[in-house]
Amino acid sequence: MARLMGVFGGTFDPIHFGHLRPAYEVMQALDLEQVRFLPNRLPPHREPPWLDTETRRQLVETAIADVEGFVLDDRELKREGPSYMVDTLAGLKNDFPEHSLCFIMGMDAFSGFTRWHRWQDILNLCHLIIITRPGAVTPDFAEFREMIESRICDQTEALVESQQGQILLQSVTLLDISASQIRQSLMAGASIRYLV
Ligand code: ATP
Repeated sequence: MARLMGVFGGTFDPIHFGHLRPAYEVMQALDLEQVRFLPNRLPPHREPPWLDTETRRQLVETAIADVEGFVLDDRELKREGPSYMVDTLAGLKNDFPEHSLCFIMGMDAFSGFTRWHRWQDILNLCHLIIITRPGAVTPDFAEFREMIESRICDQTEALVESQQGQILLQSVTLLDISASQIRQSLMAGASIRYLV
């Protein structure tokens, strides 16, 4: 039986409660041993981050301090070049060979998953846990029906029984918070209290 480890990658520009509460709920619902937060250095699919690397790292560290099971993993920040998740997952697999990696992503991120670098290889390295997010359009699953059909599961047992390749949809509390909205507020001089 594999031990389950959550992997939560993001730009975290900045980290907010829309990241934290869902990650916490996933950890509890799936009985994950830990959730590793991995801020990326240079996200390949978007503009460079607004906050500098060290500020993003420190904000994640502060936000998760004292939460048992939440861990900052800054390996992408230390790596040169774009942060490809496939490389990160391969590194994690190497470091934690006894764990099944559960890669947590919002439904919005999953919509673009088949445009990710070597996405098929990602499914050979981890399970995908897709969390609900307000405003995220459910993707046209027909587009990747073949990939999904044999993998979709609705129980934690499936994640424990196989090392990788299962896809689980997990409902979490819907918090309509985004880092872009927070950045806009900051730029406009508006308060971001209780969002972060
Ligand atoms: P931005 O607004 O700059 O695009 P973001 O708020 O989406 O940022 P990211 O760091 O890009 O934050 O997201 C990291 C991961 O967290 C992604 O998988 C994303 O789908 C998920 N996520 C972010 N915000 C939420 C939320 N409010 N509810 C559920 N998942 C979320």
